[in-house]
Amino acid sequence: MLTGTTAQAAPAANCPGHPDALGTSRTLVVDPRQYPLIGTMQYAKTLPLEDREVVLTFDDGPLPKYSNQILDILAAHCAKATFFLVGRQANANPEGVRKMRDAGHTIATHTQNHPGNMNQLPLDRAQKEIEDGIASITAALGDGTAPAPFYRIPGLGRSDVIEQYAEAKGLQIWSADFPADDWRPVSSQRVYDLAMQRLEAKGKGILLLHDIQARTVAALPRILSDLKARGYRLVHVVPATPDRPATPTEPSQWQLHPISEQVATSRWPKIPNFAYTATAALPAPALSHSDWRNTAPADRAQRRALRDALWSQQVTLVLDPPALPVPASSVFKLPESIRVTMLYSPPSARKPEPTAPAAHEVSAKQAARPAKHAKHGGKGAAKHAAQVKPAKKNAVRMAGLKKR
Ligand SMILES: [Zn+2]
Repeated sequence: MLTGTTAQAAPAANCPGHPDALGTSRTLVVDPRQYPLIGTMQYAKTLPLEDREVVLTFDDGPLPKYSNQILDILAAHCAKATFFLVGRQANANPEGVRKMRDAGHTIATHTQNHPGNMNQLPLDRAQKEIEDGIASITAALGDGTAPAPFYRIPGLGRSDVIEQYAEAKGLQIWSADFPADDWRPVSSQRVYDLAMQRLEAKGKGILLLHDIQARTVAALPRILSDLKARGYRLVHVVPATPDRPATPTEPSQWQLHPISEQVATSRWPKIPNFAYTATAALPAPALSHSDWRNTAPADRAQRRALRDALWSQQVTLVLDPPALPVPASSVFKLPESIRVTMLYSPPSARKPEPTAPAAHEVSAKQAARPAKHAKHGGKGAAKHAAQVKPAKKNAVRMAGLKKR
């Protein structure tokens, strides 16, 4: 990429004419091959950010009507972001891709056609989506350079084969650490609220937004101003190249939570599923219960009630040790290098404080999704996120207690 080789702090002073700008505090250079799967919405690892560091990501563009406004807002804050572009959109608006590049943002890819069922496509079609997307964006860049080897799956619809393929290609799959639901029919106020609430809950991370939504355009200025006011710092992420080595990091920095917090439960990978397999008294959840594409408004209240019930049940089950398999003693003998932080493991088991998910977390998963092009939080993702979120909140709290 073309920008950001310096790593020193760059506060407002580095944003001429905008004394209240958020700025971009540092550039983080990452080697995609070193950590091929990142983003705690789905994975155990995420970017090695310090507390109160934020990475902005925008998906589904370029769509000039809104993408250009997003670029203007970012420019007014000297804020650098990563754009996950759709190949078909790039073909239609190649100048939009170059605008992003010329403004110093990181250009990444998000398939050619944004299929909503990436995890169900045959491997050859999934590969073609990824490859065509990269080719279209390379063509749009027009200077022979390729986009960054960062890739986000539409709808966060991960699968083993996609991940294996991406890794073999040297692509780093970016999930995210928290969304702001800006692809749903919510108000810009709601987008702002969710972005800040979820960031405050985690303290740092990758924010997933969309540059093709009016509500995102409306929410972004306040998000950036508030990041500044609350002492957050923006990090710009670029890929390592032969001339630009990766920022030195320790493996532990790529874990959202300290390993010591998680190791005892790191081999209990299926705990959230207990909520679905042991709910005899509740109506059996169909796949559609976690699928926003199939949500009729009339069903929302019912589904919300169901999800609430499931959450309550989950917490109860997790707090009941006899319901869980006893981990093998080998769990506690894992060498440091292969300890896996399973963020799905609810720390509430160790901190018996039954916590119902905030209403917005539940309702967000239930809301219908509107646009064809914004499929984040899709079937798999919604399910994952719904299972993970309350646990993560507690996990963050636990982690915070241990820290310094
Ligand atoms: Zn998308």
